[in-house]
Amino acid sequence: MPRDPGSLWSPLPESGKQGTGIKTQFIVHSTGDRGSAKAIFGYFSRAAVVVESTFVIGLSPADPTRQMLDSSEVADANLKANTRAISVEVVGAATDPFTDWQISELIRLGRWAGAQHPIPAQICPAWDQPGLGWHVMFGAPGPWTPVAKDCPGKTRIDQLKTIVFPALMAAATPSEDDDMLLIRQPRGDVALILGDRSIPIGNINDYTALTQAGIKVVTVTPDLYNGIIASTGSEG
Ligand SMILES: [Zn+2]
Repeated sequence: MPRDPGSLWSPLPESGKQGTGIKTQFIVHSTGDRGSAKAIFGYFSRAAVVVESTFVIGLSPADPTRQMLDSSEVADANLKANTRAISVEVVGAATDPFTDWQISELIRLGRWAGAQHPIPAQICPAWDQPGLGWHVMFGAPGPWTPVAKDCPGKTRIDQLKTIVFPALMAAATPSEDDDMLLIRQPRGDVALILGDRSIPIGNINDYTALTQAGIKVVTVTPDLYNGIIASTGSEG
């Protein structure tokens, strides 16, 4: 029952009650407004709300990514794909581009999901085939949604096609360069480890560029993070 160490574990009332499936798809959504990930968690928690997703990504590290169900659990966001898809809500209107933080989190979560589940780094070739996708990919209404909608939105779909999914596909080619590693703690602090030195990454754009370049990200506890920074020569 995998849980992402880089997300805040925020189980919904449905958690543990929905049954599990073999997860072969990673499907991205927009929440439709700029309310926080925390607020979306509150919405999905209501007794009257029977839909939910596996993860929700906020606008910035100040609103940490939340995991609301174990990633094997059925998540009711994708109609016919609920048993096989990990669904990821990303805060924002369909007309908003993803922020740099959201792009980094999508890449990080996509890599994690691909390592934990049989989700290949490819665009889903069909609605019932494994890979990466977005909500209205096969029509709206269609096999992944019962209604007409524009989720996650044209701009965001372009970012998935040109930035997020190519980074996930590139990561499928293993790099032997273990000398370089990014460590990250759940609240967002990031450092680049180069041999025996550490360089805190204060700028999210730099973090995004490094993750897109294929440098592995390891999520660690705050204690371990501080310990690594203390034990390496910092260039901060
Ligand atoms: Zn959606």
